Amino acid sequence: MSIITVNPKTRSKGFKKENLHINNNLINQKKIRNKIDNIGNIKVYNLSLEDELIVKKIITSYKNFFNKQNLKDDEMILDGHEILEAIKIDKLKFPRYLVYRYKYNMYPKLHLLGDYPPCVQVEPTSFCNFRCIMCYQADKSFSNKSHGYMGFMELDLYKKIADELEGNVEAITFASRGEPTLNKSFTKILEYSSNKFLALKMNTNASMLNEKLIHSILSSDLQTIVFSIDEKDKEAYEKIRINGNFDRIIKNLELFNEIRTKHYNRDDKIVRISGVKINDRQNVEHMKKKWGSIADIVAFTNYTPWESSYDNPVNEVSNPCSELWSRLFIWHDGKVNPCDYDYKSTLSKWTLSNRSISNIWNSEEYNYLRESHLNNQRSKISPCNRCINA
Ligand code: SF4
Repeated sequence: MSIITVNPKTRSKGFKKENLHINNNLINQKKIRNKIDNIGNIKVYNLSLEDELIVKKIITSYKNFFNKQNLKDDEMILDGHEILEAIKIDKLKFPRYLVYRYKYNMYPKLHLLGDYPPCVQVEPTSFCNFRCIMCYQADKSFSNKSHGYMGFMELDLYKKIADELEGNVEAITFASRGEPTLNKSFTKILEYSSNKFLALKMNTNASMLNEKLIHSILSSDLQTIVFSIDEKDKEAYEKIRINGNFDRIIKNLELFNEIRTKHYNRDDKIVRISGVKINDRQNVEHMKKKWGSIADIVAFTNYTPWESSYDNPVNEVSNPCSELWSRLFIWHDGKVNPCDYDYKSTLSKWTLSNRSISNIWNSEEYNYLRESHLNNQRSKISPCNRCINA
């Protein structure tokens, strides 16, 4: 019987409520209201006029929320894991966090565009030591070395990226097509990112963790560490995470947890165990029992058939894709792509070797892609016509 049994018609980002568990009973909107009430004079945060207006809009959104009024289309309050992130954010940085989340969540809905994307996904490597059944690594025409897609990001390229993004983008995620910790410069990448960004995140399969790497991760500026795990027991895990050794993952995570508890402030970072929801057997309550002592959040993300992006049937999804306004992906070699559904970068017309990130984000070709989606022409673009991302 196939392990992948779900067949979604569309996919939204984030987590469905039933697939998310946050390990903290104290998390609630009242805490955020306290932080909102404490913002005080907006001028002291040195925000641009546009960003000040966003903070004011969120303050109004919270007033409406607590007065039990419906939010307008351009209003937003934080939700789910954002509340945990926001609670941990320093008071002086909190307005910046609000602006970042507003741009990430609302700009795709309002089709607004800033000088930079709200979040940048940086791939330290496209190599992976796993071949998970729902991942592009399962596509041999991509993951076999001979096809030319595999490589590692040079530290100098990352420095160039970080230098441009510092002060312009709050969120960088180290992940995409490969396992970031396979890059021998990964700890140097983390070091170079220090004090530059508000929401640094990494995704890892946890297979390469050792004492040294764990200290590097925990002493870094990372806000969130995501361990990609989809099941609670060995047999089911190893059927999904091909090449993964469940016993080793448990050993590594126990070591991580021991070092985190002994040497670091557990409140400093957010640890998430995150799987992909590929069948109905996976259950967040079961995952919580297994991983709740290690992770602050246990969750499943929504599945899209990434393992067969270019062979999926052409579909009828016609709404504009949110990725075009929320994130930009930078591959190991400096190639820039709008998403990782298109893991062979057939949409890409851009490389950092001759253009800046801001220039690419606002380029004619990128805007043409956005316009096509807005004008109901998504079906004419490959592989958007086979993709279910909403
Ligand atoms: S393939 Fe197109 S529709 Fe799918 S995530 Fe990428 S940009 Fe969006």
